[in-house]
Amino acid sequence: MTIFSKIVSGEIPCNKVLENSDFLAFHDINPKAPVHILIIPKKEYQCFQEVDPKIMVGLTEFTHQVAKLLGLDESGYRLITNNGSDGGQEVLHLHFHLLGGAKLSWDHL
Ligand code: ADP
Repeated sequence: MTIFSKIVSGEIPCNKVLENSDFLAFHDINPKAPVHILIIPKKEYQCFQEVDPKIMVGLTEFTHQVAKLLGLDESGYRLITNNGSDGGQEVLHLHFHLLGGAKLSWDHL
């Protein structure tokens, strides 16, 4: 079980932004931008390459809601998923980094 599944189950606390039956958004513990949120499916897909494409519709709608809630829908934001070893993925539970709150350069990666 990954650390993110433990966050989903409540075993490990998180600073929650938004949740529904399928997805959870919470603040990254080591923010790389003024706003740095992690958006995850509650189901443990290892990475983007393994995800069921059908859940991406719901994940897109959920991400739009998170951006609106944080007031980033007008100013903009960056959405990233690191996939696998060469992608720099550390936690093997699919997650999207939502970064914003400043004009971002590639140094924020
Ligand atoms: P990288 O660490 O290279 O960004 P990932 O794409 O796997 O690799 O990202 C894992 C992210 O999860 C990191 O940004 C890290 O700060 C964050 N993280 C790890 N543990 C926690 C936690 N308990 N709560 C919130 N964020 C966490």
